[in-house]
Order: sequence, then C-alpha cells, then structure tokens
Amino acid sequence: MAYSTGEKPGNGTYICKVCGQKVVLDDNTDTLPPCPKCKKTLLHWVPPCTVVFFYH
Ligand SMILES: [Zn+2]
Repeated sequence: MAYSTGEKPGNGTYICKVCGQKVVLDDNTDTLPPCPKCKKTLLHWVPPCTVVFFYH
C-alpha cells in the first residue's frame, strides 16, 4: 500500500519511498506532507511494514 502527498491515510508512521525519511502522523485528520528531507512532492509514502526492501 502506498499513499500520495496530501492524502489522509490515518495516524501511523510512514516512510518516504525515495529517501527513507520517516514521518509520523498522530492524528487521523493529518495529511501526508511533502518529504522534509528530499522535498519531493509527488512521492509516495508507505507504511513501514511494506518497505523493508528499501533499506540497503
Ligand atoms: Zn524523501
């Protein structure tokens, strides 16, 4: 499962698919921000359990 910037997938931890930056949403009404590290706005955020293979 992946979510785009601006979506509201609910609270939880998400990881930038591009650079691995973690972002925590602590409220169900929070939207996924652009990545604070790589600044990409079209990236996808994914829950940590699905991105193990992004760690090299
Ligand atoms: Zn990033």
